[in-house]
Amino acid sequence: MSAPSPREVDALRPPAAVLDIARTLHRAGYETWCVGGAVRDALLGISHLDWDLATAARPEVVRKLFRRTVPVGLQFGTVGVLDAAGHMHEVTTFRRDVRTDGRHAEVEFGVSLHDDLARRDFTINAIAWDPIGERLADPFDGRGDLARGLVRAVGEPDERFREDRLRALRAIRFAARFGFTIESHTWDAIGRSAPHLGRLSAERVKQELDKTMEQVMRPSAALALWRESGAFGTLIAALRDVPDVILAAVDALPVPGPPTRPLRRTLRLAALLSGLDPREVPRVLKALKSSNLEVSTVSTLVSLWHDLGDSLAHALATAQADDERVLRHWVARIGRLRLAAFARLAAAHWWARREVGQPAPTAAEWRALYRRMVRIAFRDPLDIADLAVDGDDLRRVGVPGGPLLGRVLHGLVAFVLDDPARNTPDALLAEATRLAAEAR
Ligand code: ATP
Ligand code: MG
Repeated sequence: MSAPSPREVDALRPPAAVLDIARTLHRAGYETWCVGGAVRDALLGISHLDWDLATAARPEVVRKLFRRTVPVGLQFGTVGVLDAAGHMHEVTTFRRDVRTDGRHAEVEFGVSLHDDLARRDFTINAIAWDPIGERLADPFDGRGDLARGLVRAVGEPDERFREDRLRALRAIRFAARFGFTIESHTWDAIGRSAPHLGRLSAERVKQELDKTMEQVMRPSAALALWRESGAFGTLIAALRDVPDVILAAVDALPVPGPPTRPLRRTLRLAALLSGLDPREVPRVLKALKSSNLEVSTVSTLVSLWHDLGDSLAHALATAQADDERVLRHWVARIGRLRLAAFARLAAAHWWARREVGQPAPTAAEWRALYRRMVRIAFRDPLDIADLAVDGDDLRRVGVPGGPLLGRVLHGLVAFVLDDPARNTPDALLAEATRLAAEAR
């Protein structure tokens, strides 16, 4: 492969703080290289925030050479070096994996840059740049694969995937992110690895799924490969045969991008799971060790979509949506605070359906209806907290406490949803007395 062009040299120049760290190590007699994602992205012409350094210096030497360090992962040789602004940069000693079991590795120091690059997963991730001597080390022709648009395992793919099963999912993510193809031997080995992915911890699998949602503009490219390779079959059986129209809905939602926008990631996840039986969704997410907040947000959105999606589409198609009363009930069911998220999810699904030629409301129709729903949400009483009376008022007119009080309050919400003008103390107390008598 040719020497880097002036443009590449320019892109490969790390931030000043990283260059300073490399210089300090170099002056102390330790060769030091930029490695990993930043080098790959620089060669692709994409900016990358974290510049990782690999060095011949042992971790204890790195800790002595710099004033402020953080022991990020000493057993793996990683020291965090803090720059003047307090930003941390990772410096990792050249290392080789000596023992692996598909999940964890034990490492050995005192090895060469070549050994360090050889333990990396893909050729495009195994390129090193010497920021002082301004030269590339690329023993596996990663630049060639960048130019060809190929994700290729370093070395023998089956062996590399046996060492660490996560690499199968990483290959898929890098391919989707850069629009690359997975080289055929590497792809075949991913298929053979798929039945063994159950060995991975739920946390690592979830993190890979999250990174896919966060980094990949069109996650359907990755998710279709999770399906085709058998990875979904092993890891999230409910998505084994997830249809393309669902994957397209994920694409229709905006990429969260770094720094992460958690709600956007959650919405993409909701789209992915929205073809499942809503009762299955919490189980799937808990198995992936999702946060409680994510489990509840996604499950609620999927349930709402199941309950209301078709009714809304039908109403739009038949002009039933002109009825304010019907709309108000829907807005109450969705909830004021969830309305925007629900609207985006619905728009994504309908966009995906139109893409595959299925009937669905148009973007303009849905936008117009959504605007009316927002107006209702911020104008009309929708839940118990909005009522012109509270539980104490009801007890004062003789409604007993306990479950009946709850039922009466819900009855009052339905009463004002039918007509918001009824939300006055007099009308509500009269209705409450009637409801309580009826229930006795
Ligand atoms: P991203 O932009 O997603 O951070 P990255 O290439 O920087 O991409 P990291 O997970 O941050 O990916 O890892 C940094 C580097 O460490 C990779 O480029 C690769 O060389 C190496 N690496 C990371 N994970 C593995 C793995 N499971 N097996 C082998 N090498 C790995
Ligand atoms: Mg990285």
